[in-house]
Amino acid sequence: MPDRSPASSLHCDLLVIGSGAGGLSAAVTAAHLGLKVIVAEKDPQYGGTTAWSGGWMWLPRNPLAVEADIVEPIDEPLNYLRHELGERFDEARARAFLDAAPHMVEFFRRKTALRFIDGNAIPDFHGRTAHASTGGRSLCAAPFDGRRLGQRIADLKPPLAETTLWGMGIASGAELRHFLNAMRQPASFWYVTKRVLAHWKDLLMYRRGMRLVNGNALVAALSASALEAGVQIRTRSPARRLLRDGERVTGAVLHTPDGPVEVLARGGVLLACGGFPHDDGRKAALLPHAPTGKEHHSAASRGNTGDGLRLGESAGGHVGTDLLQAAALAPVSLVPRADGSFAHFPHLIERAKPGLIMVRADGRRFANEADSYHDVMQALIQATPPGQPVQAWLIADHGFMRHYGLGAAKPAPMPLGPMLANGYLQRGHTLAELAQSCGIAADGLQATVQRYNTMARAGKDEDFAKGETPYNRMQGDAPFAAGRGWSNPCMGPLERGPFYAVRVVAGSLGTFAGLRVNANAQVLDAVGQPIPGLYAGGNDMDSMMAGHYPAGGITLGPAMTFGWIAAHHAAGQPFSL
Ligand SMILES: Cc1cc2nc3c(=O)[nH]c(=O)nc-3n(C[C@H](O)[C@H](O)[C@H](O)COP(=O)(O)OP(=O)(O)OC[C@H]3O[C@@H](n4cnc5c(N)ncnc54)[C@H](O)[C@@H]3O)c2cc1C
Repeated sequence: MPDRSPASSLHCDLLVIGSGAGGLSAAVTAAHLGLKVIVAEKDPQYGGTTAWSGGWMWLPRNPLAVEADIVEPIDEPLNYLRHELGERFDEARARAFLDAAPHMVEFFRRKTALRFIDGNAIPDFHGRTAHASTGGRSLCAAPFDGRRLGQRIADLKPPLAETTLWGMGIASGAELRHFLNAMRQPASFWYVTKRVLAHWKDLLMYRRGMRLVNGNALVAALSASALEAGVQIRTRSPARRLLRDGERVTGAVLHTPDGPVEVLARGGVLLACGGFPHDDGRKAALLPHAPTGKEHHSAASRGNTGDGLRLGESAGGHVGTDLLQAAALAPVSLVPRADGSFAHFPHLIERAKPGLIMVRADGRRFANEADSYHDVMQALIQATPPGQPVQAWLIADHGFMRHYGLGAAKPAPMPLGPMLANGYLQRGHTLAELAQSCGIAADGLQATVQRYNTMARAGKDEDFAKGETPYNRMQGDAPFAAGRGWSNPCMGPLERGPFYAVRVVAGSLGTFAGLRVNANAQVLDAVGQPIPGLYAGGNDMDSMMAGHYPAGGITLGPAMTFGWIAAHHAAGQPFSL
């Protein structure tokens, strides 16, 4: 759409474009440093993918770990990254991140509404890599009372419906365990009953849940802190063009419901539009498994269409093209919705539980299902011959289905009927029948399950070493497995029909390739010089992990930390508390 000339101008010190963690971290910090901040958000509600996320942040040496006596020198996480990233390791950015992260956490927990819960028992993804940790390097946003946002709660993006129960987000860890055990343990049944009743009361009184958890709590706490500090958050206001004075970026034109508005920002502009998960052109260029872009089904927010990258390029910025993977890959299933569209459901939890396998159309496993979503997806892409669709099936028996659920098909007592009727969930009384309804080779599947069941009973995955890393075991279910006499917390036999399957395709949690930046989050030009007045945050910034995925939380941790760093740089103030 051609630009009409802006009818009005606004002035601020920092203009933040995009309202996920990358943008809001910078906005809150800058406001506390005395800057006048405007946040422009394209969608009718703020929060982006962050509001749908698990809210976990990889933040080594954080104060909550230190308080639990998990103390490590900076060289430990630094060397873990060095080993994981290999030749793509950028020491300047890694050090900037690891130095600033503990201060960032301290700032937010002391001076804002954001509180954290620890990840002291959460291991890094790759326990066999030197300097991997078995816990203490991550944090999650603590639950947040949505009523603290007052009227502005209406502008907060709710969690992705398919990942909730009647719109209620379920916190990872102890709360999720209660939900999975609700039909088995009286204490869990009681916990879940109270939680559900409180949620229904909220629905009656406020038409949404008010006990916010995970990424929704992160955005709620950040936005409450931003509003309290005087930040203007303007929804329905996409940035369409950057304003420049010579080389310097001086603001942007927003298309607001009242028409175009010019925002002049003395201290600069931070682009935090969430990368390019829904930009088919850039996906086709950077994701080899998606030749037209459409073959990649990201679970990220639909408004993330690569605007920040294009705006950055218009001012001389460059998008990294040499990452190991340009996206944070994940197996995604397509959930039919009543309006004919499909929700993109990322499979983050159930793959590691005992009693599930993943197979391709030949009926054979291709990976350790309990590895990270990124690693499983990379293995699937690698196992898929050129020209064939990247797809696999999660397979489980009836006991597993009712205990853990499969993706958007929820465990007992939720009914399976709707998910069977809309074709999301496939069911067969025998493995052969299931294979036929999915289009999987029946003999291949039967042979795979027979071999898998033998290995599961012995507790050892001879093919893919499932259950052998601390991360695998943490994602598994040791108490449940032990109760059935299975020694591997990630392996159980698939025995009693009916059997179930859900198809997964290539997808992601977001993108990694972004604008090249320096350790201050300043966008760099073609010769590596910072472009004055231009910063990138969140997934608009080329990932410091260079397309590797060493641990959960490696997008939100750096997003929060580099937002904090960028705000200090824009304010011309060194880090301090
Ligand atoms: C289900 C799920 C779980 C996840 N869990 C985790 C986790 O636990 N830990 C982790 O590290 N990562 C997790 N991720 C990934 C993580 O959520 C994202 O990488 C992260 O939220 C990206 O943050 P961001 O600030 O870059 O973008 P977003 O949070 O997506 O925000 C970008 C915002 O910019 C807006 N925007 C776009 N274009 C414009 C424009 N032109 N003008 C104005 N605004 C614009 C968008 O509408 C959007 O609101 C998860 C992802 C999913 C889908």
